[in-house]
Amino acid sequence: MDQIGITAEENETGSVWKTKSPWGAPKAVVTPCSLTEVMSEQLAVQLDEELSAFPICPDVNEPLITGDNIDTSSDLKLAQMLQMEFDREFDTQLRREEKKFNGDSKVSISFENYRMVHPYDDTDSSEDEVDWQDTRHDPYGPDKPTTNPRKGFAGKGKNITTKHDEVVCGRKNTARMENFAPEVQVGDGIGMDLKLSNQVFNALKQHCYSEQRRSARLHEKKEHSTAEQAVDPKTRLLMYKMVNAGILENIHGCISTGKESVVFHGKGGSMEDKTVPEECALKVYKTTLNEFKNRDKYIKDDYRFKERFSKLNPRKIIRMWAEKEMHNLARMQKAGIPCPEVIILKKHILVMSFIGENQVPAPKLKEMRLSSEDMKGAYFQVLHMMQQLYQECNLVHADLSEYNMLWHDGKVWLIDVSQSVEPTHPHGLEFLFRDCRNVSTFFQKAGVSEAMNVYDLFNAVSGLEVKADSEAEFIAQIELLEKMNEDHVQKHGKKAPSYSDDGGPPIINDD
Ligand code: ATP
Ligand code: MN
Repeated sequence: MDQIGITAEENETGSVWKTKSPWGAPKAVVTPCSLTEVMSEQLAVQLDEELSAFPICPDVNEPLITGDNIDTSSDLKLAQMLQMEFDREFDTQLRREEKKFNGDSKVSISFENYRMVHPYDDTDSSEDEVDWQDTRHDPYGPDKPTTNPRKGFAGKGKNITTKHDEVVCGRKNTARMENFAPEVQVGDGIGMDLKLSNQVFNALKQHCYSEQRRSARLHEKKEHSTAEQAVDPKTRLLMYKMVNAGILENIHGCISTGKESVVFHGKGGSMEDKTVPEECALKVYKTTLNEFKNRDKYIKDDYRFKERFSKLNPRKIIRMWAEKEMHNLARMQKAGIPCPEVIILKKHILVMSFIGENQVPAPKLKEMRLSSEDMKGAYFQVLHMMQQLYQECNLVHADLSEYNMLWHDGKVWLIDVSQSVEPTHPHGLEFLFRDCRNVSTFFQKAGVSEAMNVYDLFNAVSGLEVKADSEAEFIAQIELLEKMNEDHVQKHGKKAPSYSDDGGPPIINDD
């Protein structure tokens, strides 16, 4: 027998011990063998053979124990060493599985709780030790230890220092702060032997991680602003939930990425109290703040949302856009204007019926090459819809153009009404004038001879009788009307009667 292990040496039973013991050899006993000893040795050989039938786990870490002068006389210590080795291997394997399981996914699941080794003693603790020993060039007095004692098994005799030892643990916790949170001043390194209790350490660790996540979130915002990234994990989760709830069967690709929203196609599922159409459109309002800011004016002065606007944070305001579109669509639906039917609103996601077929959205009027007959029909339909919108729905579209009118089923459908306002909105009439100009220009250019000019259209839609010789004067008159309305609101503290009260057709207010 040599010092390190048992090498090919024949014993009385004739078996050969080929394995090298990793922890050295017990002191050779020279006493003559008794029968019981022979028996137990046989048993040992048998056990050893049985054991070697199991595959041996590859040792990824450096062997814990090297050198010749290791005391192997204590069974307890041997057992602890083995257990330690086993735990480390187990955790290494767990890490591998965790890595494989999570892949590149942004959302990862931690296997931390299944680890054998106490969280403070993770497998790269050896690295940690090196780290923190490097950072402290003897900050302690000469009587302070410069290295941590080996955990668990390193002590001599019965004097075992475990990793749970309060002092060791406290010092280690303090040192570890430097590893993951150098920004936290733990007050160490100036001769103070500071020991952080596990409780304090955990609290600090938690705090640092949530801080890191928070700052990561802030940086991510930039990423979210690109069209493709408009759907952040939270939004995706909301979408998954809708599919999970069966409202939608699935959500297909993206139909459009606009300025304020991303629109998806979804296959309809079912709901308890509502029939979900076979094809749906999901309008996801962008959660970025840059673009929607330009639209403040639409919602800020809309008396319906005025109360709430001042108190809300930007995220909630975005939800209000979705809510606004839902209300406006509902009013239009009620008046019988062809438009998407609202299915459900979930935060900033509006699910509505899909205008189109087989996942192909209906073309915009801009893209359509209509026959002159159809174009003429489209014009009269749009004129009628604008009147209905104003007079029955008490709304001004405020972004009406050939881009927000779809051609489907031989007629025009109005979409995109999140910015629509009531005519008494401080800029409502200006918005209407802009709409009229877009419509009038488009149909006149398309060769519809019946198409009215912008002024006539404005009066025909609003029922007002604004007369002016120039555009500037016309707009000045419009602004005057708006001003009068503002004054009325200020004086009476409530919504003014609609403009058309002085002579125009009656307005059915459905609120
Ligand atoms: P943009 O900035 O381009 O105006 P937006 O953010 O205002 O976009 P919408 O105009 O409502 O959003 O929708 C964008 C596009 O998505 C539309 O032009 C249309 O092609 C498609 N779309 C929206 N809603 C529907 C729907 N219900 N059915 C079919 N297609 C739709
Ligand atoms: Mn649009």
